[in-house]
Amino acid sequence: MTEISDPRHYDLEALRARVRTERGGEVDDSIPQLANADPDLCGVALCLPDGTVRASADSRVAFSVQSAVKPFLFALALLDTDGEALERVGIEPTGESFDAIKLESGTGRPPNPMVNAGALLTASLVDGSDAEARSHRIARGLAAFAGRELEVDEDVAHNEHLLGDRNHALAHLMRAEGTLTPSADDAVAVYARACATLVDAETLAVMGATLALGGVNPRTGERTVPARVARDVVSVMATCGVYDGSGRWMRAVGIPAKSSVSGAIVLAVPGRLGAAVISPPLDAQGTSVRGHLMSEALSEELGVHSFAVGSVRPTP
Ligand code: GLU
Repeated sequence: MTEISDPRHYDLEALRARVRTERGGEVDDSIPQLANADPDLCGVALCLPDGTVRASADSRVAFSVQSAVKPFLFALALLDTDGEALERVGIEPTGESFDAIKLESGTGRPPNPMVNAGALLTASLVDGSDAEARSHRIARGLAAFAGRELEVDEDVAHNEHLLGDRNHALAHLMRAEGTLTPSADDAVAVYARACATLVDAETLAVMGATLALGGVNPRTGERTVPARVARDVVSVMATCGVYDGSGRWMRAVGIPAKSSVSGAIVLAVPGRLGAAVISPPLDAQGTSVRGHLMSEALSEELGVHSFAVGSVRPTP
């Protein structure tokens, strides 16, 4: 049996060293800024309920948050619509890739808030009378989760807006179905800007901890969203957060999480901790290869797999 470690003393440097030799996966090449990411970047950070952040090397290297922003967009949409967002977006896993051109049959709603269609919609539901106001509201909301102001990489925002053909297609499709209110272009602009928000592993761990701790940021003490909203968001991360790899993830790691094309993964262990990993090479489902390995090790060695009774060894 693996001995369970205390997260306050767990050796994150040793964990990082264990996975750094892994060479699998491909860096995303959808925009130049992502294609140029350093494939050797590798960091892991934890944030505990008392606000302590523990982190390995590379945990302060900035990267664009990409889809790891989706749980927070969902949270802000739930908050700003007083829960009505739950009527506007489904919560079922798709078994398909993050940018599949598909809406829920019968309703025309996006299938869930963790795929692109859903995040385009949730980003359009936050308070604000136009795209600029909604982007501003999202920036304020993300800052509360992070406990600090976050910058946007303008080149990433610009390129994702310009080159995100599938996102434009999804937004137009939702307009045609009557599920998206703003113009397709505004919806893509706001979503692209949210994805271009710069974070690092330490910051993302704090954001994950805020969801894991019922919406209260453990570093600032600020309540970002009601506990019910945090619960709902973490539930949907558990079922849909790793796209068409969600089932495999839940068996192996057992922690609600959200993956992203930048190679970051944000994890929320309810009541216990938030974590984040970053390593750009991705597997076929868009999950960081080293990030998956580090998350699996954390789950087992900290004893935080949702469904493990005691400590279990992974199946070979
Ligand atoms: N900004 C990316 C896109 O919309 C996010 C996808 C992801 O991180 O999985 O294509």
